[in-house]
Amino acid sequence: MFKVTLLPGDGIGPEVINAAVNVLKYAAEKFNIEFEFTEKEIGGCSYEKYGTPLTDEVLSECYSSDAVFLGAVGGPKWEKLPHNLKPEAALLKLRKSLGLYANLRPAKVYNSMLSASSLKESVLADTDVMILRELTGGIYFGEPRGYDSDKGFNTMVYSRDEVERIARYAFELARGRKGRVTSVDKANVLEVSQFWRDTVHQVHTEYPDVELNDMYVDNAAMQLVRDPKQFDLILTSNLFGDILSDIAAMITGSLGMLPSASIGKNYALYEPVHGSAPDIAGQGKANPIAAIASAAMMLKYSFEIDKASELIECSLENILAEGYRTADIFSEGCKLVTTIQMTDLVIEEFDKLYVDQAINVFTL
Ligand code: NAD
Repeated sequence: MFKVTLLPGDGIGPEVINAAVNVLKYAAEKFNIEFEFTEKEIGGCSYEKYGTPLTDEVLSECYSSDAVFLGAVGGPKWEKLPHNLKPEAALLKLRKSLGLYANLRPAKVYNSMLSASSLKESVLADTDVMILRELTGGIYFGEPRGYDSDKGFNTMVYSRDEVERIARYAFELARGRKGRVTSVDKANVLEVSQFWRDTVHQVHTEYPDVELNDMYVDNAAMQLVRDPKQFDLILTSNLFGDILSDIAAMITGSLGMLPSASIGKNYALYEPVHGSAPDIAGQGKANPIAAIASAAMMLKYSFEIDKASELIECSLENILAEGYRTADIFSEGCKLVTTIQMTDLVIEEFDKLYVDQAINVFTL
């Protein structure tokens, strides 16, 4: 039995989480998986009810679960609240409290969506990059930090433990992919990056089967746009990963399609990359693909049910290939569908693939 805490949050959060949970429930039925879902508030809706965007009760619920599945938080209604009461503050607190040090953002291109990118189809075809960003260290957390009337300053610092931990995660992850890690830093200028590079290479001696190369972050940004398919897994620090993951994400098309996972020693959190999209909330227009793909990541990375995860991903690919689109990715000649219709189509396709796969296994 897998315990999953659902935190749908605000705006389109509940719509896309509901969609993804329907897919998860269907997959669970087929693969004999037992889930126990517990739904709690986070963000603006929590503030309205309890006066805080994240209650201790929700946090302890997350501590007792196998995975947390989050929608999105925020909206114009809560923009003027003090910083610590803003919905977004709940996210930072949650990630930190759960010790989620590894952020995984796949940038995979769906073949039928090639024309939606700002890059040429020939450049983008077959791109499948995983950006692995260190999430709890580096300049976002380093001390001292501050500013006065004459200067502003932050500290970019990494400890050996932090770099070794994320490097190990990268090499393990690469083993399940094409086995190539590109470690991105700025070692020509920053001592902290020289330390990062040396430490990554030391850890690499334990993984001789994985290929490792280094790249400066400015070059990596350029290469991601010039020739993204050269990369398999990009390992990088908090700040560089923040920027590179957005570049990698956007070359693949729309915000509504991008999943993510944040993983720690004891906990894991899955969430679509997009926000609460207040402009389309409650209208049935939200694209559920990012949330459904995040659920597929949960099956793979938390529960190691790779086959179910793959079937969900194939279902998404096939539905898109058949021309079904929510409004955010709609183009002429395609079939416009709502959030619920898209979800039902994914489930139908999952069912077909499941039956085909069962027949194939049976006839082998
Ligand atoms: P956003 O991602 O919510 O929306 C940006 C644009 O993309 C909007 O036009 C929206 O309609 C569209 N969009 C996003 N997701 C979509 C989907 N699944 N289907 C269809 N269209 C989609 O970003 P924003 O407008 O800058 O922020 C809105 C609120 O969300 C803010 O309060 C912000 O702080 C918050 N936010 C939360 C998270 C999070 O919870 N992880 C992330 C980013 C922003």
